[in-house]
Amino acid sequence: MRVIALPRSATVTARVLAGFATLLLTTTCTVVPRPVPEPAPAAAPRPTPSIPIAQPPARAWSIASASEQGAIVRGVAPSGTVALSLGGDAVPLAADGAFIIAFDRDAPSSETLTATFADGHVDSRTIAVAPGRWDIQNIDASLTGGVSSAEFQRRRAPELARINAARAQANDVDGWRQDFIWPTDGRITGVFGSQRIYRGTPASYHSGVDMAGTTGTVFRAPADGVVILAADDPFTLEGRLLMIDHGHGLNSAFLHCSKLYVTEGQHVRQGQPLGEIGSTGRATGPHLHWSMKLGSARIDPRKLARPAR
Ligand SMILES: [Zn+2]
Repeated sequence: MRVIALPRSATVTARVLAGFATLLLTTTCTVVPRPVPEPAPAAAPRPTPSIPIAQPPARAWSIASASEQGAIVRGVAPSGTVALSLGGDAVPLAADGAFIIAFDRDAPSSETLTATFADGHVDSRTIAVAPGRWDIQNIDASLTGGVSSAEFQRRRAPELARINAARAQANDVDGWRQDFIWPTDGRITGVFGSQRIYRGTPASYHSGVDMAGTTGTVFRAPADGVVILAADDPFTLEGRLLMIDHGHGLNSAFLHCSKLYVTEGQHVRQGQPLGEIGSTGRATGPHLHWSMKLGSARIDPRKLARPAR
């Protein structure tokens, strides 16, 4: 038998290596595997409530903005309201309770809004109306639009009859709910409510807002609506006149037009071209006069149209 004698140094090296391997093994064996988290138990299905779901709370008054002469106010009437009135005048009420009211340029300092319920009881709110501030404006034009007083009176009656008949229409359109836009971006040259003096003769206040523009400038619908008057034959004062019903008693009138693109009965969408600016009727130069009424109240388009100008 042959014995292979390892040199001493080799034997030591082998023992050290064996010991190191043991250490490695030991170290490996002491590593405890991380426990795998158990999956969360599936949520048990919620039992169907055995009690009936409560009715939503009764809707209270919601009145959107501060009130002032010449402005509109949007609101929602309390749940169960079947009729609404402002100062005794009926206010149209939408199925969802929404309404729009307005305060005339000469409205009193407060008005009463009344909701009537099916059982006859009423709920009233007194609305404070802040005063408007009105200018005085001198106009270098004849009060009667350049025709004799007798001729003016003769022509005026049928014109007013057409305007009143147009305003008496009640179309089922929702333009009144929209944020109104400006029909043109022309510079504002006349504001609502100012006391006008025609060559020294005081007249009624200015009923709208005037925007400068050259003849032929296109103007657009400030909100959806129906054309209720499109006078291609110019009126004495208004010239070529276009009127739009936005629903709920709110309407717009555009005066002094040179051309109209739409006809009576036509539905128009917000932003749709309606016609062109001109100087027909009683006008000192081409401009667009935009006036608005809600029921019997004359209101200021600047308090409605956005952006504020
Ligand atoms: Zn005007």
